[in-house]
Amino acid sequence: MHYHYFTLEQRDALERLICDQGGSADLLRRLHSPEYGVCESCGADIPYTSLMESPAARYCANCEPTQPLPALSVRHLLPRIP
Ligand SMILES: [Zn+2]
Repeated sequence: MHYHYFTLEQRDALERLICDQGGSADLLRRLHSPEYGVCESCGADIPYTSLMESPAARYCANCEPTQPLPALSVRHLLPRIP
């Protein structure tokens, strides 16, 4: 787990996007936490462009579940790609 640094402009743009989409306060809180933008499965950075498409993304492209499943059950089933 490491910090994912966005520029202020990127963070602002994400915050606006989340607000426009009626995002939850929880998501906004996560945006300003070190966990945001880092894959919960493998710890890789989630590209800014992906986050602009889906600000609530919690996984990188490699770990993204193909079907929406509860995160907790999915996390341990995914193969770990080094
Ligand atoms: Zn990942």
